[in-house]
Amino acid sequence: MIRDRERMVQFVSDHAVTSEASHGPDSASRRDPFVLDVRPLGRRPGTMSEVHRTVTTPDKLGVEMIGIPAGSDVDLDLRLESVSEGILVTGTACGETAGQCSRCIEPIDGTVTVFLTELFAYPDSVTEQTTEEDDVHRIVDDRIDLEQSIIDAVALELPMSPLCSEDCPGLCQVCGIRLAVAEPGHAHELIDPRWAGLENKFSELAEDGNPDDQESRD
Ligand SMILES: [Zn+2]
Ligand SMILES: [Zn+2]
Repeated sequence: MIRDRERMVQFVSDHAVTSEASHGPDSASRRDPFVLDVRPLGRRPGTMSEVHRTVTTPDKLGVEMIGIPAGSDVDLDLRLESVSEGILVTGTACGETAGQCSRCIEPIDGTVTVFLTELFAYPDSVTEQTTEEDDVHRIVDDRIDLEQSIIDAVALELPMSPLCSEDCPGLCQVCGIRLAVAEPGHAHELIDPRWAGLENKFSELAEDGNPDDQESRD
C-alpha cells in the first residue's frame, strides 16, 4: 500500500507536464514550444516525469550554414526530476537539419541530436541565492524554458563548416563547377598563376601612372 502510494508520488505522467492544461487550446506551448509547466512535479524532491513530444521550433536552431530550419519538428525526450534545489532536466532534443556544404555549396541534410543536462533552480533556493542567472537557470512562474539550452546545444553540436563529404573537392576556382561532378582532370588553359600575379601588378602600376610601366614595352 505504502509502496503504491510512493510510486504515484514518484511519477507524474507526461500528460500532466504541459502548458496546454492551464492555458486552453491556443496554448502558450505553440508560441513557446520549449517552455514546460512543472507544477505537476510540485516541489517534492524525488518526483519525476518524462516528456516525450514533438514540437515545432519557431526559429532556426543551429549555425549559419546548417541547422534545424524554422517551422521544423524537434523531438524532445526528457526526464524532469525534482531535486532539493530545483528541477533537473536530462534527455535529448533531436531534429532534421538542412544546410549547405561549405566547400561546394551543395545542399546537405541530416539529423542532429543533443544531450541536455540542465538544472533549473527553485525560487528562494540556496542555489538561486548563490548563483547568477546566467550560470544556473531559474524556474519562473512554475515554468522552465529550455529554448536557450537547446539553441546553445544545437549550435555547439553542428559544424561551423559542414561538408557534403569528408573529401569534397569543392568548386573550380575558375568556372565554379562542382569538381565532384566535373570531368576528370577538369582544368582551364590559363596563364600560370605565378605570372598572373605579376601581370596584375603591372596593370596596377600602369593605372597609377608609375614611370616604371615603360619597362613593360621591352
Ligand atoms: Zn561539398
Ligand atoms: Zn572550371
